[in-house]
Amino acid sequence: MNDTLFGRIIRREIPAAIVYEDDDILGFKDIAPQAPVHVLFVPKGEVIPTLDDTTPEQAQLLGRLMLAAADYARREGFARDGYRVVMNCREHGGQTVFHVHLHLLAGAPLGHFGTA
Ligand code: 5GP
Repeated sequence: MNDTLFGRIIRREIPAAIVYEDDDILGFKDIAPQAPVHVLFVPKGEVIPTLDDTTPEQAQLLGRLMLAAADYARREGFARDGYRVVMNCREHGGQTVFHVHLHLLAGAPLGHFGTA
């Protein structure tokens, strides 16, 4: 089995501040937040290590990660102010947990994105 840290959080084997859950996705606060709001959205099913490992059959699941983040932002009241979603892929993307996930960052102006 392709076990990961996030798999253990999904199975409630280690604690996390869970803020979102539906049939397919778990959302929990990042342990080292990079913004006032920093939530990770993770698929609960079979582990997909990176975005590069996804297939066309997983397009709906990837879209649902985005929709979960947008839903959370509306529900928490910061959608109109705005937010950022990021998915890191492998070494140059800065990925450290190889269980595909979407970062939601919000709660303050995040500045222009694009500098290394
Ligand atoms: P990545 O770098 O792979 O895109 O994102 C992994 C994220 O997981 C990082 O932002 C990191 O702070 C977060 N993280 C690492 N370990 C834990 C943990 O044990 N609990 C939680 N909630 N987040 C974690």
